[in-house]
Amino acid sequence: MAELRGVSLGQNLQAIVSELESCKTIYGYRQRDIFTGDPDHDFSVDFHDKRAFTQLGPASGPHTQLTQNIILAFLGGGRIFELKTVQILDELDIGRPCIEAPNIGFNIEWSQELKLQASYDEYVKAWVILKIIEDMELLGVPKGDPFYDFVFDISIGYDLKGVSSPIMVEWVKKLMNAEEAIRQMLSELPEPFARYRDFKVDPHISSSATLSTFHGCPKEEVEGIVKFLIEEHGLHVIVKCNPTQLGYDWVNKTLLQDLGYSHLRLDKHAFEGDLSFEDALPLMKRLEEFGDQHGKNVGAKYTNTLIVNHEKSVMTNIEPGVPDKVMYLSGRPLHVIAMNGMHNMRTAMGSHFHISFSAGIDKENFTEAAACYLRPITTCTDLLQKGGYARMPQYLKNLGKAMDEVGARNMAEFLRTKAGDNSLSLEEAGHINAQSIVPALVENTRYHNNQNSDMPKFIDSHLELWDCLTCNICLPVCPNAATFNIPIGKQNIPKTDFVYKDGGFSPISGDVINLKKKSQIAILADFCNECGNCDTFCPEQGGPYAEKPNFFFNRESYKTDSKWDGFYFDSPHSMTGRIQGAEHSLQYSESEEQFTYMDPKGRFTLDSEGALIEGEAAAGLADGAVVDMNSFYVMKILMLGLASAPASYTNRFLLETS
Ligand code: SF4
Ligand code: SF4
Repeated sequence: MAELRGVSLGQNLQAIVSELESCKTIYGYRQRDIFTGDPDHDFSVDFHDKRAFTQLGPASGPHTQLTQNIILAFLGGGRIFELKTVQILDELDIGRPCIEAPNIGFNIEWSQELKLQASYDEYVKAWVILKIIEDMELLGVPKGDPFYDFVFDISIGYDLKGVSSPIMVEWVKKLMNAEEAIRQMLSELPEPFARYRDFKVDPHISSSATLSTFHGCPKEEVEGIVKFLIEEHGLHVIVKCNPTQLGYDWVNKTLLQDLGYSHLRLDKHAFEGDLSFEDALPLMKRLEEFGDQHGKNVGAKYTNTLIVNHEKSVMTNIEPGVPDKVMYLSGRPLHVIAMNGMHNMRTAMGSHFHISFSAGIDKENFTEAAACYLRPITTCTDLLQKGGYARMPQYLKNLGKAMDEVGARNMAEFLRTKAGDNSLSLEEAGHINAQSIVPALVENTRYHNNQNSDMPKFIDSHLELWDCLTCNICLPVCPNAATFNIPIGKQNIPKTDFVYKDGGFSPISGDVINLKKKSQIAILADFCNECGNCDTFCPEQGGPYAEKPNFFFNRESYKTDSKWDGFYFDSPHSMTGRIQGAEHSLQYSESEEQFTYMDPKGRFTLDSEGALIEGEAAAGLADGAVVDMNSFYVMKILMLGLASAPASYTNRFLLETS
């Protein structure tokens, strides 16, 4: 597996500013799709001790791991970010692909794939970048506007020993007050951002955590972990509940019979190992009381994903010791289960009980969840579908329309008008609204298997290095903005190979390289964790991440991931590449208009048309050997294509980081 790597604060800022100016995009997200607020509606909510401009956000998962994930979700209108779960074990071996969400979602990925320090750096960078975006008024919204009210929520797992370990304790403390890291990052900003080296940034990145009670979290340790987080750190804590809390019989009937997902199988053991509702209820009461005594909020989140057995999935392994074809279900069916879990718990705990929500949220049901006063409402599976992060603004547009229908301008008016009683607290109104929303869900056919079994369209064609349908679907479905296109242009390039004879090279005609499409798809290898989502949606066979050119940010990552083919740049005119395991390099001299190309068979100086100026054979090259120059043309096309492309984030990261 290729390792995920982020880029520095300065590189991110330079990329954001220059790309917005020259391409009208940020990490490929179009400026015209950016959520810039809604003057007619106030979506803001309280979350613990903070205010957030919207209750929407990306769920802890593939959309909150790297800096650019968080910025992209902000552009979509997200304001409460559930950071990807961190835990003491930061060298996980996760099977690949790890996500399969053609309609409903399945995955086998769980906590952070980065090392703890790298996760920390990504979250701090994202925090600082959002503050600088505000200060620069880059999105056209004046600084100080509530538009910039956003919250970072730590997600943490999975047992007391890990959570209370010195390394995790220090990690949390450093995120609750990141003064030193922020100062260090700002001090290293490059010249265009020198004015921000002394920028004052609120260092208190997070004051709340969501505890994941999954992946082997012992149910008897939940209480101790929550108390530890409150006592040791002074955090507000949300306990993330599992769908198993609704009981095997109910979930089995609802999922397989009522919703029709009869091809899935539940794992009875998973239900026995998790907290039952009967255990969770008194636990929540005790924890709420404990929180009250310490001046901290305790709430519950609905829900984690659901362990299922899915024989038809492409994913074959999960955690050590867990059988193949066992994976985590998300998306629409989980929405029905989680909403019922949420309502059961709130009814038992009382309307006041804080509930956050994430399960199958999309533009159609976000408004209903908002009417139930759930905070935050986070999304994941829907963002893996076509359009990616740009699907989020429609959630808020639909909420605005629903507010108009009842004559509401803010969330308080919306909640109370929907509940039909202006004297209710927001919590009471949300609870009353849920009483009509939740029971209707299981009958709603949009959650049923027969409305969620269409697969993305495929054609009988296998991806190759060059050309494809160029549908660009693979770009926004990548959570990490790892896929991009290079506007190389249509080209017909006659290839000249060489034959080595009598100590010299003679040209021989090769094939013609025929690029029929205006642009070519490529991958930023350091942002790609081979999750497989681009493969799921690519109409052609093979998977963009596996078939298209991979680019590393620098020599170090190129060397580390040495089993993968790919390229890196030392400078815009000097690149090295591994092609079918063999190393090649290419330099271009602008003053001499010459290329210098090295491959295992020799060193060649060529003019800009590819005609040989000078050739030097590698030691031992046999008389009569043919030098196939395909790799030279591949590298030349990519080098010139990237150099001529506008200043997108990809060019910044590839050509200016070496
Ligand atoms: S390029 Fe494809 S496989 Fe890689 S992270 Fe993006 S979606 Fe996943
Ligand atoms: S690689 Fe696949 S998804 Fe991406 S543009 Fe080409 S055909 Fe479309």
